[in-house]
Amino acid sequence: MTAPLTKQCTRCELDLPLNEFHRDPFRAGGLAAKCKTCRKELAAERYQRDKEQILKTCAAYYAQHRTEVLERVNTYHRKKREQS
Ligand SMILES: [Zn+2]
Repeated sequence: MTAPLTKQCTRCELDLPLNEFHRDPFRAGGLAAKCKTCRKELAAERYQRDKEQILKTCAAYYAQHRTEVLERVNTYHRKKREQS
């Protein structure tokens, strides 16, 4: 039996060459169910939909860990200055 050279995407339902699918070792066949284009579109959609939530989470993290974050940034710059 020869391995199929194309695979059907579960989202756009097109038969696409295997290199249009990301590798996914957790799935049977070792490839993602959705093609790269669909994955990209879904990620963009999700980002658009959850943008506020994502930004809020970042802002909340920053508010809670403000000193830590600032310290890390300061240390980073100090190290850089010492190196040069
Ligand atoms: Zn697709």
